[in-house]
Amino acid sequence: MLKVWIGVLCFLVVGPMLHAQQVYPRTVKLMGSRFDITVVAIEEVEGDLYIDQAIGEVKRIERLISSWDSASQTAAVNRMAGKSPVKVDIELFQLIERSMVISKLTSGAFDITYASMDKIWFFDGTMTQIPDSIEVARSVERVGYENILLNKEDTTVFLPKPGMKIGFGAIGKGYAADKAKKLLQSEGVVGGIINASGDMNTWGVQPDGAPWKVAITNPMNKQVAFGTFPISNRAVVTSGDYEKFVELDGQRYAHIINPKTGYPATGLISVSVFAPKAELADALATAIFVMGKDAGISLVDQLPDVDCVLISDKGELFHSNQIKIDQSTP
Ligand code: ADP
Ligand code: MG
Repeated sequence: MLKVWIGVLCFLVVGPMLHAQQVYPRTVKLMGSRFDITVVAIEEVEGDLYIDQAIGEVKRIERLISSWDSASQTAAVNRMAGKSPVKVDIELFQLIERSMVISKLTSGAFDITYASMDKIWFFDGTMTQIPDSIEVARSVERVGYENILLNKEDTTVFLPKPGMKIGFGAIGKGYAADKAKKLLQSEGVVGGIINASGDMNTWGVQPDGAPWKVAITNPMNKQVAFGTFPISNRAVVTSGDYEKFVELDGQRYAHIINPKTGYPATGLISVSVFAPKAELADALATAIFVMGKDAGISLVDQLPDVDCVLISDKGELFHSNQIKIDQSTP
């Protein structure tokens, strides 16, 4: 899962300085994934308190957007598919609105209604053959973000087809990273990194004034960094979970599904996207898997302040026009 790691170098302030800023990191399990939360603070108790606040924020979001938690509003929307609209908090309503904008931007490659296909493909090693093509074709019948009915006045969401479902697997961790960052910034935390299993947002700088650095490793040889990137007040997200894929008849399928065909994406094994927000980067990374190298890069090249680095299943590296890759090790 650790395809992106943070090279926090030389972060300890040298010398017996009192009240010097330091980096306080903590690893926790949230949203079923590993979160590495790092804050800059002057004392451990202060750092701890901030990290607790970030954790509280991520848990709050999880309770709102998790489709597995039957008590969440998202689960209620799914339960009432084909039956009736469900009133939701403005926060969830707006997340769905923004998800639909990204679906439009990616011509439907990213689609939160992919969730009705989740009974066909399993990426936990239990699958031994490609599912029946009729079954796959049937699974996409209920997919289509354009069918989601939103009522702005009442903040209700209605999934008109029975069995239709929404899920935030490809955007939720990015959103949580953004919100935790926002909360800590409002608390006055001068710098930090919220890393949700490779979906991260950063702000400020390291205590020595140097920018945070991320390294993108070669998924085929994790000891080798493809490049390091200084990053300040920006998000970077890497999609491509090397434990979550299935190999059938010699073809490797990612756990990201093409909403139009019902078949998992092939061709890329890692997609990293740099953007102002982790939410956008997260959703775009998933979409690029589906769109493939050429369409993915051409989309990114049209978006201001967005860059990407892709690794194909042959181990080749591709990137968008603007990005500069420092090939020296971090
Ligand atoms: P990672 O888990 O590697 O960070 P992503 O952020 O791309 O990867 O999220 C993948 C998850 O998104 C899948 O496990 C699934 O829940 C969901 N998903 C799969 N295909 C799509 C799609 N085309 N659009 C939106 N969500 C998807
Ligand atoms: Mg994603």
